[in-house]
Amino acid sequence: MVTQKNISPKQSAVLNATKRREFAYLYTRQHKRFRTIVDIGGVKVGNRELAIIAGPCSVESAEQILRIAREVKAAGANLLRGGAFKPRTSPYDFQGLGETGLQYLREAARETGLKVVTEILDPRHVELVTRYADCLQIGSRNMQNYPLLREVGKSNKPVLLKRGLSATYEEFLLAAEYIMAEGNAQLVLCERGVRGLPSELRFTLDLNAVPYLKERTHLPIIVDPSHGTGDARLVPAMSRAAVACGADGVIIETHYSPSESASDARQTISTDELAALVRELAQIARAVGKRVCLPEEGR
Ligand code: PEP
Ligand code: MN
Repeated sequence: MVTQKNISPKQSAVLNATKRREFAYLYTRQHKRFRTIVDIGGVKVGNRELAIIAGPCSVESAEQILRIAREVKAAGANLLRGGAFKPRTSPYDFQGLGETGLQYLREAARETGLKVVTEILDPRHVELVTRYADCLQIGSRNMQNYPLLREVGKSNKPVLLKRGLSATYEEFLLAAEYIMAEGNAQLVLCERGVRGLPSELRFTLDLNAVPYLKERTHLPIIVDPSHGTGDARLVPAMSRAAVACGADGVIIETHYSPSESASDARQTISTDELAALVRELAQIARAVGKRVCLPEEGR
């Protein structure tokens, strides 16, 4: 605060306002002119090549995650998702396999060469999840869990931060700031749908977020059309829309047999559907100056 005796309160308020404008948060484009490229074990997010993150909502068994990893890789995914610690609405629903799930994920990653994105629920688990994961996912329900944000901010793992289901853009960006303020700038933002008007669908995928946040921040932004719609039938269209509006990638719940998924079965697409979708995304990517590396092209 400016507290000089010889200036009026109004003058001092104006001075302070000017100072606030000059202060640039770490997430802003004023602070960093060039776009951030996040490196997840060698897979770059935020450059021309789209991130295609696919896998089940939950890791269910060693066989399940290995088969899905192989199939999503063949479909063109470059990163593997799967929850070992699940934030379920009911405490009686499947909560994930915990560390065993992390081990299965790591094994599937080793077999396929895919890198792993998995959720961390608890600030006390940073050391544990970091041992197995290539990228720490902060789920929607934890976007404002400040102790968790600070802990992942102290780690040197890339972070995927999902937007809170009722969070404004400002709250979302300031949650990112918590992580960056601790020293971790390897951060990807993820729009995953918000609660709007009562809807027949689970959430409303807010694609405004993509071009808007691109104006406000240098951080990459990806889209989750699975949670954003809650309906597998809508996932391909909203994935295409996400790429068309400039997203740096998509994260899609995928299973070889969606109806058998232990969680989020209704919004999960099959690995065959993913393969068809990735081909469509490749075409749209070309139109917006991005690309998808299709499996037959090799990498
Ligand atoms: C998930 O990715 O499985 C998940 C729980 O997502 P969200 O935090 O967006 O609900
Ligand atoms: Mn899910």
